[in-house]
Amino acid sequence: MSKPYVLKKGESLSKVAELKYGDRKLAARLADYNGLLNTKDIVVGQAIQIPAAREFKRPKSPAPSTRDVPRWPTAPNGMAAIISLFGDIRAYVRDDGTADPKWEANFIASCPLPFAMPLDWAPATSAKSLRCHKLLVPLFQAVFADIASKNLQTSVKTYGGCYNWRMKRGQAKASTHSWGIAIDLNARTNAMGTAGDMDPKLVALFESYGFVWGGGWAGANKDPMHFQYCSGY
Ligand SMILES: [Zn+2]
Repeated sequence: MSKPYVLKKGESLSKVAELKYGDRKLAARLADYNGLLNTKDIVVGQAIQIPAAREFKRPKSPAPSTRDVPRWPTAPNGMAAIISLFGDIRAYVRDDGTADPKWEANFIASCPLPFAMPLDWAPATSAKSLRCHKLLVPLFQAVFADIASKNLQTSVKTYGGCYNWRMKRGQAKASTHSWGIAIDLNARTNAMGTAGDMDPKLVALFESYGFVWGGGWAGANKDPMHFQYCSGY
C-alpha cells in the first residue's frame, strides 16, 4: 500500500474496489480494512487505505488451537469478526479518545512469559509478562514456550508492547494493539516501512499459530515489528 485513496464526490466503495481491484465485491472487505462497519460509512474527501488484495485473505494455515479442547479462538478475518470475538471497542472510547476503564477490566489480562524480554523503550528493564486480550493468554503462552523450546529466544531482542490503547498510526481506525491482539518485537531495527531484520524462523513460528506478520504488508505500511492475531484488518 502506498498513499491512501481520497474519495471523490459520488464515489462509492464499490467503485473504488472496481477501480483498484477490478472487483466491486471487495467493497465490504475494503470497508472492514478501513475500520468501517458499513460500506456506506464514507464521506467525500475521506482517505481510504488500499491494501494489496492478498491482505484481505485469511492466512493459509492457521494452526488448530489444539488437538482436543481448543484453548484459544481461531484468528478472526475482518472487522466484524474481530469485534464479535474480542469486543466492540467503539463502545469504550471516551470523548477525549481515551479508553473507558471497563475496557481493560473486561478484556485485558496479564500473561506470564517463560523468559524475560528487554523493553524496547527502556532496554535496561525487562518484562516477564505482557498484557493482552484475555482470550489470547494461552496462545501467547504457547507461542513463547515454543520460542524458548526452539531456541529462538535470542531472536527476540526487545519487546515493543502488546496491549496498548491507541489508534493505528495515521489512520482513523482502532489499532489491533487496542484489543491486545498484536505484539511488536525488535522495534529498534524493524521500523515501519523498512524491510527490518526479523528472524524468518520467528516469523514462521508466529504464522504457524495463525498470526499475520506486518512485514508481509506492502509499501509504506510494511510493519516488520508487528504480529497480529487477525487478518483483513
Ligand atoms: Zn504493532
